[in-house]
Amino acid sequence: MPLPPEFALIAKYFAPLADTPAALGLSDDAALLAPPAGRQLVVAADAMVAGVHFLDSDPADTVARKLLRVNLSDLAAMAAEPLGFLLTIALPKGFDSVWLRGFAAGLLEDRRQFDVPLLGGDTVSTPGPATLSLTILGHVEPGRALLRRGAAAGEVVWVSGTLGDAALGLRVLQGRLRGLSGRHAAYLSERYRVPEPRLELGRALAGIATAALDVSDGLAQDIGHIARLAGCAAELEAPSLPRSEAAAAAIGLDASLGLLAVAGGDDYELAFTAPPGHEAMVRGAAEAAGIGVAPVGRLLAGEAGEVRVLDDAGRPVRLERTGWSHF
Ligand SMILES: [Mg+2]
Repeated sequence: MPLPPEFALIAKYFAPLADTPAALGLSDDAALLAPPAGRQLVVAADAMVAGVHFLDSDPADTVARKLLRVNLSDLAAMAAEPLGFLLTIALPKGFDSVWLRGFAAGLLEDRRQFDVPLLGGDTVSTPGPATLSLTILGHVEPGRALLRRGAAAGEVVWVSGTLGDAALGLRVLQGRLRGLSGRHAAYLSERYRVPEPRLELGRALAGIATAALDVSDGLAQDIGHIARLAGCAAELEAPSLPRSEAAAAAIGLDASLGLLAVAGGDDYELAFTAPPGHEAMVRGAAEAAGIGVAPVGRLLAGEAGEVRVLDDAGRPVRLERTGWSHF
């Protein structure tokens, strides 16, 4: 079924997502938004291109949820709360009403789950691959945002949740990782398709963590950004990296997959630093947020931004590729 004219498309698929006065029913040229009094605005944007950031076989509803969630994850990393989002999608021929209905249904589910309304955007056609861009608005108490800068040598590197799941899930979906149980394969695929933004953890860490970011390109590469801004190096202990039961099963099939916990992207867990004496506070914040955290290494004197990964014997591991390069 071809796409309906734009006004009909907005009414049918997008108006239900824009149930907030600020969106003006999506009938104006722009939204009118009053940020909560005394708060700082936090703005981020992330785009996804078909065949690059999601698979053509990914269901439309999970593509939508991932698009929103990777943006929410950027707010989580800065300890911010979501306020609303703008959505611009460029669709080629072949992305019909059925696809758009699934996409809108996925967005609506997460609009409710995260209480984040659509404020506006645009839908256009393109001769290229489907390109989906979302701009998220959030807010934070002035001075409370977590930043990538602010860490120092001697501090502990922490991560939330488990690492490597999404990269393993991508391999499952591409048919490059076979032999897992159906349950483990489904778990890893879901971790790739529908990441969990750690919004509560980010907010709980404000005032405790010295620096933070979300792990999108692989822990080794991402922690390098924090180290570089701190003017020091980082050391990660591979055996300390938290892994899911499903990831452990995959590594049992092929030990080389273990390095995806440091080099694999798309996990959207939080990586952050805190002084060594803050362990109890970090663990308290994580408990309040309902998510596990683990110390996985440290910042130390050395070349700014250099990241070393140590194996279980304390020897440096050579990483062929420390994370994803998008360009
Ligand atoms: Mg990010």
